[in-house]
Order: sequence, then C-alpha cells, then structure tokens
Amino acid sequence: MVKYSIVIPVYNEALVIRETYNRIKRVMEQTDEPYELLFVNDGSKDETLDILKELAVRDDTVKYLDFSRKFGHQIAITAGMDYASGKAIIIIDADLQDPPELMLDMIEKWKEGYDVVYAKRTTRKGETFFKKATAYAFYRLLRTATEIDIPLGTGDFRLIDRKVRDQLVGMRERSRFVRGLVSWVGFKQTAIEYERDERLGGKKYPLKKMIRFSLDGITSFSYKPLKLASLLGFLLSFVSAIWMIVVLYLKLFTHSTVTGWSSLAMAVLFFNGVVLMMLGVIGEYIGRIYDEVKQRPLYILKEGWGVGYEKEKMPY
Ligand code: UDP
Ligand code: MG
Repeated sequence: MVKYSIVIPVYNEALVIRETYNRIKRVMEQTDEPYELLFVNDGSKDETLDILKELAVRDDTVKYLDFSRKFGHQIAITAGMDYASGKAIIIIDADLQDPPELMLDMIEKWKEGYDVVYAKRTTRKGETFFKKATAYAFYRLLRTATEIDIPLGTGDFRLIDRKVRDQLVGMRERSRFVRGLVSWVGFKQTAIEYERDERLGGKKYPLKKMIRFSLDGITSFSYKPLKLASLLGFLLSFVSAIWMIVVLYLKLFTHSTVTGWSSLAMAVLFFNGVVLMMLGVIGEYIGRIYDEVKQRPLYILKEGWGVGYEKEKMPY
C-alpha cells in the first residue's frame, strides 16, 4: 500500500519532465515511506509520453495515465485523483513553478491532522504585470461572486487526505474548478506560504484559457451573474416606464415629438446591448447545463501504467 500519491498533470513538458522527476524523487526519498508518482499525460504532442515510458520502466514508483486527447489541466488532475491509491494525495505542476521541497512541509501538516494543505504564494516571480493583475482581479471577483471561500493566491498545488479525495471523486461535474471543489468539500484545511518560481521552459496559460477558467470558477459556484441580470432587468424596466410616461406626455401635450430621434436611437442601442449581454450571461449557464446533461465521461484513457487500468474496473 502506498502512502503518498503525487499527481502530476503534464502537457508538452518534455523539456523539464526529467528534471521534475528528479526533484520530486529526491524530496520523496526523504520521507522513507512508500509513494507513487502518478503522471497524467494530457495529450502531449512532444516526447513527454516517451520519456514517461522510459522512466516507468526504470522506476516502479512511476505510474502514468495517457489521455486519448487533450482534456485540459483540471481534468488531468481529476483523473490523477481517480487513480491515486495513496492515503494522502499531492497535486503538483510539472513545470517546477511549485517547489517540490514544500511537499515535506505539507506532509508534516497532514500528520498534524489537517485534511487539506494548500500552498499559498506570497510573490509571483517572473510573471508579467498583466498576469499578476488579471490573477488578482480574478480572485477578488471570485471571492465576491461566490459564497464559498476560495483562498486568494492559491493554485492547485496542495495535499489532500484520502477522505477528501473520495468526496471529490464523487463530483463529476464537467466545468471543473478543482480548487473551488476542494474548498467546497470542507474538512480541516490550512495553508503554507511560499514564493512562486519562474516557469522552467514550455508554454503558458494563454489569456483565452484564463477567461474560460475564470468563467468556470464563477458559474460553478455562484448564481450572482444571473441575479445581476434580473436586477438590471428590473432597474431598466423601471427607467423605461418613466421614459414612456415622458414620451406620452410630449406626444399628447406638446408638438415637439419629432425632435426625440437621437434619444430614441440611443435608448434602442443601449437596451439592445444590455439585453444581448444578459442573454450571454444566461447562455453561459445554459451551455454548462447542456454539458452536464450529456453525461459524457470526463476523460478517455488510451493507456495506463501501474494504475490498475488493465483491470478496467475503476470507479468512474
Ligand atoms: N497542463 C495540462 N493541460 C493543459 C495545460 C497545462 O495538463 O492543457 C499541465 C502543465 O503541464 C503543468 C500544469 O498543468 O504541469 C500547469 O500548467 P501551466 O504551467 O501552463 O499553468 P500555470 O502555471 O500558468 O497555472
Ligand atoms: Mg506553471
């Protein structure tokens, strides 16, 4: 029975993956307890999988899952948790932005009795002002928009106890925001602080994906945008009602009706804009409802190594 499962989502990480493996290995060896390194290959297009195979043959603590295509970071983490067999599961990025050495501190906290230990970054080295600003805005927005408490400045780098993992495995929602789900589950949670390093080679989360991710985070945990839509609807109807009275008055008691063209045009443009925007908000939710009702699997595996994939009898 392994004690620790290290879940590492990888997408095109051929440049750094050996280094990542070495560093994590070095840290885990210090625990003197059995562990597994579970890599989840999210449809990499480079030699990542070949390197994983090579590592797995040499070292039997290395296990991997290989997706049939790219399913995304959050889904990769989910798959890792599904197949992890440890009593504590640590999720860590492959790009070494999260220092693996911190895992020892996490384990220590876990042994003190905490069920979730997340890493909280104090500074963001080597990230552009834009990334910092958008990340900050995102967490602020998330905090105000959702009822549950998602800690500021945390990523997915965290340790979770098996019982938390068992709860997460039961949550099969499609638009996944794993750190939100972890907060939602509850149990005894704590943070450790660290400085985030620069990314070692490879690509970044592009802006388009950041926006998608933020929308998933907000829509999965909050109805506030919908409430805002109806509030705005009421407000604008009220304003329109007054405007209608004014228009009627002008029509019946004055001769100045023709001059109203510009205000009419502005009103039409403005209200159309608002209506379309609110339809968009509603559409974001309907799209996600549609995704849920299709009940497709979250991911499809092509192969697995050392994870009992052969047995074809995994929970999900
Ligand atoms: N990743 C993945 N699928 C993706 C994008 C990223 O599995 O579609 C992996 C990637 O290999 C890395 C981790 O998820 O291990 C975090 O990715 P990245 O460093 O790009 O995110 P950021 O550091 O900007 O949050
Ligand atoms: Mg990164």
